[in-house]
Amino acid sequence: MKIIDAHLHFSEREHFRRTAETVAEVAFSAKGLRSEYEIAGVTAGIVMTSPGREPLPSSGYSRELELKDGSIENLLACIGVNPVDLSNDPGEELYLIEKELNMPYATGIKLYPGYFPFYVTDPLYKPIYRLAQKYKMPVAIHCGDTSSARAKLKYSHPMTVDEAAVEYPDITFVICHMGDPWVMDTAELISKNPNVYTDVSGMIAGNAAFIQRRRNTALYMDHFRQAMVYAEQYDKILFGTDWPIAPVVPYVEFIKDLVPEEHHQDVFFNNALKVYPKLKDLFDSSGS
Ligand SMILES: [Zn+2]
Repeated sequence: MKIIDAHLHFSEREHFRRTAETVAEVAFSAKGLRSEYEIAGVTAGIVMTSPGREPLPSSGYSRELELKDGSIENLLACIGVNPVDLSNDPGEELYLIEKELNMPYATGIKLYPGYFPFYVTDPLYKPIYRLAQKYKMPVAIHCGDTSSARAKLKYSHPMTVDEAAVEYPDITFVICHMGDPWVMDTAELISKNPNVYTDVSGMIAGNAAFIQRRRNTALYMDHFRQAMVYAEQYDKILFGTDWPIAPVVPYVEFIKDLVPEEHHQDVFFNNALKVYPKLKDLFDSSGS
């Protein structure tokens, strides 16, 4: 089965390298990811770029689609928005975001509520939603738990996306990480709102042994299953890894445990094409 990884990170920022080495125990390199993708059957990925335009630590990295040893084929990106930069200098920030949305690799926008204390309905995001409408691009939203104790969870609760989805019915929203641990709320949101999808990336941060331990814990697995069974919206769920916070192959197996086999083709491939239509061009041009 061909797989699309609808949510990963791929930039030379220290916290990603540290997570790769100490949490997921994966080789944090283009070579490492290519090898993991080949074994798992992943043929394309959507990179979530970091919020903010601050320069990367080592010069020469103009964008977040390459590591020290280069890049890999078939990567697109959702462009990260930093609401603090946006409020400090809206003109400059919007100019930079729009410039990036015009790049061939841009396929969406990424917001990071929780990490930043702004609700997705904050008026500050209005021009961002106008850009999403103009470029017909989906808006992926970090939802649920955060990797930082300094983040504020009330802003990243999936329920906050409901109001945005109603106010902007022509924009497609993706609730990242199924909003875990508030997966039942996400189940309700994808059932109720035709324009809301969810990705199942990053629900476990850990190495292969840790993922296996989670898979063996029925009560833990059941909280996701309950949400999926409740929603019965397998055409609204996108596979993603959140690499490098988890190794690819064990993460694929984890999601396969949760999703009934008859829906694998949709969850692991078809749904990403619906939400991120630029993926089609990628496959057409690469012939894969
Ligand atoms: Zn992520």
